[in-house]
Amino acid sequence: MKHKPKLGQNFLVDDAARHAIVDALGDVRQRTVIEIGPGHGAITEILARRCQRLIALELDRALAAELTFRFRDQPQVQIVEVDVLKADLTSLVPGGETVDVIGNLPYYITSDILLKLFAAGSADIVARAVLMMQREVADRVSAAPGVRDYGLLSATAQMNAQVSHLFTLPPEAFSPPPEVYSTVLRLEFAPRFAELGVDAASFDTFLHQCFAQKRKTLMNNLRSAGYAAETLAAAWPSEIPAQARAESLPLEAMASLYRTLGAVEILGKS
Ligand code: SAM
Repeated sequence: MKHKPKLGQNFLVDDAARHAIVDALGDVRQRTVIEIGPGHGAITEILARRCQRLIALELDRALAAELTFRFRDQPQVQIVEVDVLKADLTSLVPGGETVDVIGNLPYYITSDILLKLFAAGSADIVARAVLMMQREVADRVSAAPGVRDYGLLSATAQMNAQVSHLFTLPPEAFSPPPEVYSTVLRLEFAPRFAELGVDAASFDTFLHQCFAQKRKTLMNNLRSAGYAAETLAAAWPSEIPAQARAESLPLEAMASLYRTLGAVEILGKS
């Protein structure tokens, strides 16, 4: 198989794995599914028989043409030649329907795809996703607070979705084999902003400030972000040690700190 390394083209050739990925999406008989990067159709082929409607987004013109020809007699399958990061998901799926997403992702844009899906999850466009990505990235997305891999990506992901770690594949499952192992995650989009009493956009900014420098304590990161020492002292909850790092805090504690800081700042200004 010819491939373009720049487009992250490592094609899945392990038959059990491609079935397991589609199985992980559950019962899709009544669902519209968007596939990111169908390539030569390893996943597309199985999914086309199972879901009500399949929209596959492929950037590579030759691959999009190959798949358009291959699925020409299956009207439930629509191949769209587009950059997934530029695709307008709402216009692809008219009628306010929520869709599911699947993809053996092009690894070079994994984080950007995740951010796009979190926004789509918040807008009720996407309900769940089964995604294969580089193992190290999957470990960060799914890490719990306090473990080595936990950081900004974990916190952002877990504010937006319930993440399940499904299985890991060796390089030999692909042609050509990538240099890394690959992990499949399932994300059930369920944004927690309202439940935790935070505004989505400003809490996202707050998380960036909290995790700005890994070697700094949470308090020092917030000092660098412009919070006054007195504000931090007045708002700091007794259960959070002064030397705590953002990486050690569960999202509930992070949200509680954000709310208290907001309240103290408002009081200071009044
Ligand atoms: N799904 C196939 C499989 O499992 O064998 C191919 C997976 S391959 C890892 C990633 C695919 O994403 C390639 O087909 C590549 O051309 C496509 N791709 C790369 N960048 C893309 C982008 N920005 N938008 C849409 N597809 C992209």
